[in-house]
Amino acid sequence: MAHIKIILDENDIPKKWYNIQADLPKPLDPPLNPQTKKPISPDDLKAIFPMELIRQEVSQDRYISIPPPVREIYRTWRPSPLYRAKRLEKFLKTPAHIYYKWEGVSPPGSHKPNSAVPQVYYNMKAGVDRIATETGAGQWGSSLAFSCRIFNIQCRVYMVKCSYEQKPYRRILMENWGAEVFPSPTTLTNAGRTILKQNPNTSGSLGIAISEAIEDAATHDNTNYALGSVLNHVVLHQTVIGLELKKQLEQLEEYPDILLGCVGGGSNFSGASFPFVRDKILGKHPDLRIISVEPTACPTLTKGAYTYDFGDTAGMTPLLKMYTLGHTFVPAAIHAGGLRYHGDSPLLSKLTKERYMEAVAYQQREVFEAAKLFTQLEGFLPAPESAHAIKAAIDFALICKARKEAKVIVFANSGHGHFDLSAYEAYNTNTIKNCEHSPEEIKKAVTTLQKIHK
Ligand SMILES: *Cc1c(COP(=O)(O)O)cnc(C)c1O
Repeated sequence: MAHIKIILDENDIPKKWYNIQADLPKPLDPPLNPQTKKPISPDDLKAIFPMELIRQEVSQDRYISIPPPVREIYRTWRPSPLYRAKRLEKFLKTPAHIYYKWEGVSPPGSHKPNSAVPQVYYNMKAGVDRIATETGAGQWGSSLAFSCRIFNIQCRVYMVKCSYEQKPYRRILMENWGAEVFPSPTTLTNAGRTILKQNPNTSGSLGIAISEAIEDAATHDNTNYALGSVLNHVVLHQTVIGLELKKQLEQLEEYPDILLGCVGGGSNFSGASFPFVRDKILGKHPDLRIISVEPTACPTLTKGAYTYDFGDTAGMTPLLKMYTLGHTFVPAAIHAGGLRYHGDSPLLSKLTKERYMEAVAYQQREVFEAAKLFTQLEGFLPAPESAHAIKAAIDFALICKARKEAKVIVFANSGHGHFDLSAYEAYNTNTIKNCEHSPEEIKKAVTTLQKIHK
């Protein structure tokens, strides 16, 4: 009988993360100092990150050991299950096999603690006693708050204002784990005050909240910064997803034809896909399609430029080479708050540029329609972010049906939507809007990038 779910043993939790930098056909373009335009040195990052994370950021080692105390905490919810979406397949009448790797089983409800736990662990080892961060939908803030509680470190979260207002329960969850949470932009930082002066009614953005958290870390001695996505070390930690996924599919004697995941900053999908991207780089599965799914409200990979840009709105970070809409771009306030980021992981961006990976974008309403169908058939309520991958999986399954192809479609299902019920209510009551920025708006945002190069 075919399995509905594959659950590995705790011993199968990876002992090492996979670092795709070791296998890139061409090395990553280095982060640049915005003043000198020269590559930054590890020392430039010491004010806000512990040394071990800086080392991981630039490491060329293919595998990096997971510290035993981190693996011990991973055991709380890992290995995460792989499901076969049998009822969805049946409903669609598709010959395709649809699988999803379910990260909604972690205490905060998403993939994000896969990186929050090691990040806080390395900060604790380095003697840091407070961490500042930003959060969009609240998933990263919750994951950091959860991890900080475990390692007994103070946690300050700058939460994007529209999410703070839409999702009070995420804030309460963070507060239960002991974090302090503020709606960003705040009047607590120069970055926040500047933005508020320009636009008092701003709904906030991840870029703005990042500026605030970095400023907090840079101006307090005992405080470091932690980022929930984008950077190489975050993506590295998330490879536990893809390494487990590979083992689970091997047990089923399956290999994906199409691998999908939603992309905000790129961490869950990079983590799920990079062990498979490696196969592609090595020429093993040339036909495998690895596809990022993003919202039309923030079409970084599908409409952005591949160039150097700041990671935050205020321009405090090093310049990163990535797909970006420009660091001043403020995406429409869609419910998938975790996908509202102007840039993307430099690693995922490069692999997209080099055509190992592709990207598609969907509108908000069709994504919720897919999420609701999924919930009615499979039971689990996905996060609005994850629902982007579901929509793409359904579309590909329907293509397989039309072509009578029994392809294997696998998607990363990054988290649950239990804190997104007001978004589902908006969908149910037909008040959810599609958002697409006009070509003029996109062009205007991207032209800010040219200034950086002058
Ligand atoms: C944060 C988040 C995302 C987007 O972030 P990535 O770094 O692109 O993974 C996607 N899904 C969920 C559930 C999230 O919490």
